This record gives sequence, C-alpha cells and structure tokens, in this order.
Amino acid sequence: MSWINRDKESIWHPFTPLVGSADPLPVKKAGGVYLELENGRKIIDAISSWWVNLHGHSHPRIAQAIADQAATLEHVIFAGFSHEPAVKLAENLLSVLPQNQDKVFYSDDGSTACEVAMKMAFQYWYNRGEKRNRIIAIDGAYHGDTFGSMSVGDRGPFTEPFAPFLFDVEFLKFPTEELEAEVEAHFDQIIEGGDVAAFIFEPIVQGASGMRVYSVDLLDRMITKAQANDIICIADEVMTGFGRLGKLFASDFLVHKPDIMCLSKGLTGGAMAMGVTTCTSHIIEAYRSGDLMKTFFHGHSFTANPMACAAANASFELLMEQETNNHIHRINQQHELFAGRLKGHKHVANPRVIGTILAFELSNFGETSYVNEARHKLYPYFLERDILLRPLGNVIYIIPPYIIDNEQLAYIYNTIYEFLEELG
Ligand SMILES: *Cc1c(COP(=O)(O)O)cnc(C)c1O
Repeated sequence: MSWINRDKESIWHPFTPLVGSADPLPVKKAGGVYLELENGRKIIDAISSWWVNLHGHSHPRIAQAIADQAATLEHVIFAGFSHEPAVKLAENLLSVLPQNQDKVFYSDDGSTACEVAMKMAFQYWYNRGEKRNRIIAIDGAYHGDTFGSMSVGDRGPFTEPFAPFLFDVEFLKFPTEELEAEVEAHFDQIIEGGDVAAFIFEPIVQGASGMRVYSVDLLDRMITKAQANDIICIADEVMTGFGRLGKLFASDFLVHKPDIMCLSKGLTGGAMAMGVTTCTSHIIEAYRSGDLMKTFFHGHSFTANPMACAAANASFELLMEQETNNHIHRINQQHELFAGRLKGHKHVANPRVIGTILAFELSNFGETSYVNEARHKLYPYFLERDILLRPLGNVIYIIPPYIIDNEQLAYIYNTIYEFLEELG
C-alpha cells in the first residue's frame, strides 16, 4: 500500500473535518512555484503554501544554508547560550524594520509571536506597577490559534468551542469606509475609559477574514491616539511582512510606528517554522532589572533554532536583492491589469490589489465568511486545473511566491476568468 493511503490511519490534518474531506494529495517534491505530486502532476502554488513562501519552493540557497547549519550546529538551548545565526538575523531584521524597533525575541510561529507580543505588553504594565487590563482588537482579526491569539481574534465558528476560555477584549468593528468615523469614535471612547494596556491589529490588510483592506490614515490616527495615552501598539505583520504589500513591512506605509511587531510566515522564506517579536527600547526599559519578578519568563525549547535562523538569513539576502524587488513590482503590475479586467464583471465585487496580493468577492455567493459554501466549489475547480487556490469563503485571492513568472500568472488569471464566465 502506498504511503498516501495510510495517511488517514495515523494523521489528523489541520482545518480538516475527519469525515467527508477529500483525500490529501501526495506531494513528492516542490521547486519554484510548482508542487509535484507522486504521479508527476504539477500544481501551481498560487497561495505560497498558506502565505509563507517568498522565493519559490526548495530554493537552492535556502536549502544550502539549512544543510550547512545542520552539519555545524543544529540546535542549542537559547537561555545562557547564543549563536551567530541568531545575532546575524536580529541585526538583519533591525536594519530594515522601522527605526524604533530595538530588540528581537524569538519564538516558533505566528501564533506564538503574537502570544509573546501580548505577554510582553501585559507584563510591561505589571512591571511598571500600573493596573491596565484591557486590550483593543479589530473584528474579524486572525492572530493565531493559541489561546491569547484566539482571544483577540474573530469570535466565530472556529473559536466557538473555546469561547468560555477566552479573555475579554474590546472589539472595534472592522473599519470599512462607511464605518470609519464610527470606529474612530468608539476607539476614542474605549481609550477614555482608561486601563487600556495594548491595541493589536493586522496593519492595513486583514488576511484570514478575506484580505480586507482598511485605511492607512485611520490606522495612523488610531496609533497616534493610543500612543498619546501610553497604549502599546502591536502590529501583527505575520502575513504582511517581507514585501507582501509592496514595501518591506505594512508599517512602512505608516507615519506612526508600532511599539511591538510580530513576524513569521515569510521570515524563513517559508522553509522552516519560526516567529519573531520585536519591540522598542521603551518596552525594554520596564524589564531592565535584576529582579526576577520583572523577568520575561517566556521561552520555547526551539527558541532561535539555528537552522531556522540560517534559513531566515538566506531568505533575507534574497529578499534584499534588486531582482526580488523587481519581481514584487512586476507581480503588482500584472495584478493591476487583471483587476482592471475583473472590474465590472457581473460576478465580481470589490476587486483589489495591494502589493503582491489580488483579491475579490464573488458577488452572487452570499456573505463573506470562511464557512461560506463557495469554497467547496471553488477549491476543487482550480485544483482540477492544477492551481492551488484556497478561497476564504466567497473571496478568491492570489498571494504567489515572488518568483512566479508572467506566464504562470496569466494561466491563473485566465482560469479564474473562465470560472467566472462559466457561472453564466
Ligand atoms: C497566519 C497568521 C498568524 C498565525 O501564524 P501561525 O504561524 O499559523 O501560527 C497570525 N497572524 C496573522 C496575521 C496570520 O496571517
């Protein structure tokens, strides 16, 4: 029996019902934008394998960096010890992050990067001896699947079983253009109530809720007001980081920079799991003490894994090359052309392009939500045509590796267009 037929006997897949789901596809290898199956079939990875891949799969330079590191120092405890790849990565990141970012804290993934950010913010107030127990977040947010991250995320079907265990959060409505004034007034009102420790947000684009874009100016104003009241602003750049929106970080579009930033996904070029939380020297000050009670007691067994650091450093070098920048702009231009084609199509609503992301809603498929039936029809349609797209409810989006070429993009665009035409 082939290994793929034994998959179901031993494995529990993420986000996958145990009954009624299609069998998983057996991936043998991957290179560039293509996933290659056991039978030789090639599938275009149009969503960068859950938004993580930047430079194409199995990139030789990232692979070599991991192999070299594995043969030298595969891992070491990160309390009481350090290593060059971790220092180099911290220096690399700080050299391109907003200038107010001062220190790098390593963890394992996007969820833990956000978890660390919130704990850092809460203990900041504890160390300062000031009681601040409230946190502000935005409806529809996704910050990960751990409890803290779930608490500040969308309270929907996915978090329903855990609702009794999630902490209280001040949620703002998602600031669509019509709601901007209302959301801003609500934000002011919450701040006036006092005791707010932190404000966490996905800057400019909410990913999991359907690539929803909101006003940079509004976010800038909210950060200004929050910081005027010493509220710690946490930018979750797990999805938006590393060039996704056209600039290196979403925060680069902001005049007022966040106090804490969360990174993961593209950090290692998508090759290894790793999370990073960075913060300003202002945050650090509250921890600068020999007092054990003021120590940040958080850490993971695999904190700053050297192989992950090596992958991230190799990915960073690739990211900083002019060629990558050119790719990002080229993808953006191609997306814009396709968005122009989509505009006015009777089945298309709100086509939008931001950096390397293109998204739109299917206008006749009901409400935007992950449980929308549309995805059960869309996902197989594209897969049958050798394209991996994973619509979020009725939202079709493309978030490709940067090395995708124009021909491959055209194939994805044309297939999407054919689908729209077939809807009649
Ligand atoms: C994916 C994502 C996370 C969670 O990251 P994981 O690595 O899946 O734990 C957090 N925040 C945002 C904005 C994300 O897109």
